[in-house]
Amino acid sequence: DTAIGGFVFDNSYARLPDRFHAKLPPAPVEAPRLIRLNHDLAEELGLDAQALDSPQGAQIFAGNILPKGAEPLAMAYAGHQFGHYTPQLGDGRAILLGEVIDRDGQRRDIQLKGSGRTPFSRRGDGRAALGPVLREYVVSEAMHALGVPTTRALAAVTTGEQVVRDAFLPGGIVTRVAASHIRVGTFQYFAAQGDHEAVATLADHAIARHCPQLAGQPDRHIGFYQEVLERQAALVAHWMSLGFIHGVMNTDNMAISGETIDYGPCAFMDAYDPATKFSFVDEYGRYAYVNQPRIAPWNLARLAEALLPHVDEDTERGIARLGEILATFPERYRAHWRAHMRAKIGLEREAEGDDALIEDLLEAMHQGGADFTLTFRGLTDAVFDDGADETIRDLFAQGDAIHAWLPRWRARIAMEATAPRETAKAMRAVNPAIIPRNHRVEAMIDAAVMRDDFGPFDELMQVLAEPFADKPQHAAFLAPPQAHERVTLTFC
Ligand code: AMP
Ligand code: MG
Ligand code: MG
Repeated sequence: DTAIGGFVFDNSYARLPDRFHAKLPPAPVEAPRLIRLNHDLAEELGLDAQALDSPQGAQIFAGNILPKGAEPLAMAYAGHQFGHYTPQLGDGRAILLGEVIDRDGQRRDIQLKGSGRTPFSRRGDGRAALGPVLREYVVSEAMHALGVPTTRALAAVTTGEQVVRDAFLPGGIVTRVAASHIRVGTFQYFAAQGDHEAVATLADHAIARHCPQLAGQPDRHIGFYQEVLERQAALVAHWMSLGFIHGVMNTDNMAISGETIDYGPCAFMDAYDPATKFSFVDEYGRYAYVNQPRIAPWNLARLAEALLPHVDEDTERGIARLGEILATFPERYRAHWRAHMRAKIGLEREAEGDDALIEDLLEAMHQGGADFTLTFRGLTDAVFDDGADETIRDLFAQGDAIHAWLPRWRARIAMEATAPRETAKAMRAVNPAIIPRNHRVEAMIDAAVMRDDFGPFDELMQVLAEPFADKPQHAAFLAPPQAHERVTLTFC
């Protein structure tokens, strides 16, 4: 191992009982090359960014050399995949190096993804192709810049090896940083085996990390469930307000921390259509945009099942108590969604008809095939400049509904206490100009994979770091795809 990088590990998950994990090191790779080190995040984690941005850093982020104090392990978990329970998934291609305490005192997991086979790999090769590694890097960092709770990307490397998918592809490894990697599926793994002691241990571990105010309380499992639900309601509402589609909301891909996790076939929608889905494997649209607020409580019901033996000695009463909390999801979600959507159209005061105003805009956008991001961003100009109305109308293939809507909205905005310029400013802070549009992400991946050209990756990273800014040099990144550029399927 090496002292380089300044890692100070404190590995609480490694101290949990043996059945929680398999301890093994990452499998070395041929010829690692560092594509990028996230300097800001490295510093946030108290790491030595200068030292890590080096060939030795590449060795560490490829898993060839372990930083001092790492206790590498693959986590055990299960999960419902597209509604079907798989009793054993686990980290089939990821290795948790350990945990560090960041500058703000928060515990953060550092995990290599694509780091070789583990006892949970089943038929997989334990590796990741470079394309998905770059997608995870770019989209998770874009989400962070947009203000959405998310796992982060600390580094990406190429391995110098090829992976076999439909074709031979260059391999990569992404270093993922998370508040924790505990998922709904981690609880399911033990509960399904009737190992309620492990569920209790896991719950206390998760409570210590994510809800420390509940630690030791007799009713902590109820409080914990409530907190997890609240975070998911907030998270999914935030996704919806940005047009983000996760793509694989299996219970093993729902983090207890409330962070977005597992960037596979995810994408942001361009033209607004609630039925939008990108994932190649999501044949029936289970994880389509519009279904996300329904899938979250479905997953949370699975968490309730796992926690049930711990919430009340009387099973019926336990079901009633958890059920009561679960039943609040739609209203909690709706509250978060409403807050986002109201802010997006510049409403601060509450007035009757506000909900209908939001719904009618979305309906007009759907009918007109309007670009989600550009429509809301366009409204920020239209607050004090009705000359901008034309620009907005041009986003709609069919103009009647938006024609009727704009004057209604203007009349409603006139009732706000804030000056129009202030309203516009507030709207600009929540309506991004720049999102990681799927055709841009795919073009970036193509350049890297086909031509070993990381220029588009660097450029995309730079632009996405300031999603709410108006920069003339970013203008090319605003546009939705033209017909021939459209990418409607994503693979992971
Ligand atoms: P995902 O759909 O990304 O959430 O992955 C579901 C499960 O498949 C997890 O247990 C992963 O670790 C595992 N998995 C995905 N790809 C591979 C791979 N190439 N090799 C081994 N396991 C994999
Ligand atoms: Mg996963
Ligand atoms: Mg995945």
